[in-house]
Amino acid sequence: ALTGRTTRPVVPEPREERPVGPPLVVLEGVNKHFGALHVLQDIDLTIGHGEVVVVIGPSGSGKSTLCRAINRLEAIDTGSISIDGKPLPAEGRELARLRADVGMVFQSFNLFAHMTVLDNVTIGQVKVRRTPKAAAVDKARELLDRVGLSSQAAKFPAQLSGGQQQRVAIARALAMDPKVMLFDEPTSALDPEMINEVLEVMRQLADDGMTMIVVTHEMGFARSAANRVVFMADGRVVEVATPDRFFSNPRTDRAKDFLSKVL
Ligand code: ADP
Ligand code: MG
Repeated sequence: ALTGRTTRPVVPEPREERPVGPPLVVLEGVNKHFGALHVLQDIDLTIGHGEVVVVIGPSGSGKSTLCRAINRLEAIDTGSISIDGKPLPAEGRELARLRADVGMVFQSFNLFAHMTVLDNVTIGQVKVRRTPKAAAVDKARELLDRVGLSSQAAKFPAQLSGGQQQRVAIARALAMDPKVMLFDEPTSALDPEMINEVLEVMRQLADDGMTMIVVTHEMGFARSAANRVVFMADGRVVEVATPDRFFSNPRTDRAKDFLSKVL
C-alpha cells in the first residue's frame, strides 16, 4: 500500500518472535546467578494474553529457574518481571497476592497429603483469595469436573494415580483464577499411559484461552498446542519461533543438536 515516503523504513520484528496477544508477562533484561553460575542471562521475553508458550532446551539450561523467577520463588539479580503491567515486588503482602496470579504446576505434584482432593482445591481460595467456604467448594467441584475427577473429591492424594494427582494440581492452581499458568515438566514424573490425560487437560485449557508457559519434553504437545516455542540453552533464550518453523527449520546449531536428540 502507498503510505507515503518515510525517511527510515520501519522493519518489524519477525512475526513469529512477537507475542500473539497484548503483553501479559514481560521479562526485561533478567539476570540470575547461583554463585558463579550465570543461570539466566539477559532474558527478554514477552508472553501475550491467551498465548501458549512452550519452553524447551537441554537439562540445566535454566528453564525451571525461569519459571520460578516468574512467580518469585527465586529472586532475580537484575532486570524486571511484570505481570499484567505490575512489576513483581521483592516481598510482602503484595507479593503473595501477585504470586497467586501465577498458577504453578510442578513435576512433583505437591498436593497436601493430609487433605482430601476437594480440600486441596478449596483451601487456597479461602486462605489467599478470601472466598467464602461454600463458594470455594462449589468452584472446587466445578474444576474437578473440568479435569475429569468429580468422582474422586473425597479421596486423599495417595489414593490417586500420578495422572490423577497432577490433574488435581492443575485444578488447585486454576482455583486461584490465575492470569497465567506455569507448567514445569508436568508429565515428566508420570508413567507413559498417564501422560496423555494430563496433556489433554492442558490442551483444553489452552483452547479455553488460558495464558500458559509450559516447560516440557513432549514435542507433540509443543507442535500442536504452542503459539511459540522458546528454546533455551546455557541460561539464554537462543531461539523464539512458531513451532512449525522451529521444528522444520531451527536456525541455530544448538537447537539443531537438541532436536536431533529428542525427535
Ligand atoms: P532446567 O530446568 O533447564 O534443567 P534449572 O533452571 O533447574 O535448569 O537449572 C539451571 C542451572 O542452575 C543448573 O546448572 C542447576 O544445577 C543450577 N541450579 C538450579 N537451582 C539451583 C540452586 N538452588 N542452587 C544452585 N544451583 C542451582
Ligand atoms: Mg527443570
